[in-house]
Amino acid sequence: MFKNILLAFDGSEHALKAARLAKELAMCNQSDLWLVVAYDPLPPYLGEPYLDVGIEDRLEYAKSILEAGRRELGELSNPLKTELLEGPPAEAILKVAETRSVDLIVMGTRGLGQLMGLLVGSQSQKVVSHARCPVLLVR
Ligand code: ATP
Ligand code: MG
Repeated sequence: MFKNILLAFDGSEHALKAARLAKELAMCNQSDLWLVVAYDPLPPYLGEPYLDVGIEDRLEYAKSILEAGRRELGELSNPLKTELLEGPPAEAILKVAETRSVDLIVMGTRGLGQLMGLLVGSQSQKVVSHARCPVLLVR
C-alpha cells in the first residue's frame, strides 16, 4: 500500500510537516517518493524585458525550495525523485500524480498564502476535489 507517494512542497511550515509525514510513510512502506515543486507562470501583462528576469527568478526560487525539501527529507529507503514544474500548483500536482501513477498525495492544509481566514488553501482544495488517488492533508 502507498508504494508511490507524491509530496507537494512549497517551503511553508505546513509543507515541512507534510514532508516529515511523507518521509515516515515512505520509510515504513519502502515507497518511492516524488518531491514536487511548482512555480507560477508569469502574469500575462508583463512583457519583455521583465519576462526573462521574472522567469529566471521564479525558476531559481523554485529550485531553492526543491533543495530545501530534499534537505528536509534526507536519507530515504529509495532514491528521491523530483519534479519541478511551471504552472498553477494544483494543476502541476495533479498532472504529476497522473503521469507518475502515484497512489498517495501528501500536502499541507495551508501554504505560503496570507489568507488565514481559510481553513484549507486553494491548492489543497483543488487537489482534494480532482485527485484520483487518496490525498493526505497535514496540519
Ligand atoms: P493560497 O495559495 O490559496 O493563498 P495557501 O498558500 O495557504 O493558500 P495552498 O497554496 O493550498 O495554501 O497550500 C497548501 C499546500 O499545497 C502546501 O502546504 C503544499 O503542500 C502545497 N503547495 C502549495 N503551493 C505549492 C507549490 N507551488 N508547489 C508544490 N506544492 C505546493
Ligand atoms: Mg499557496
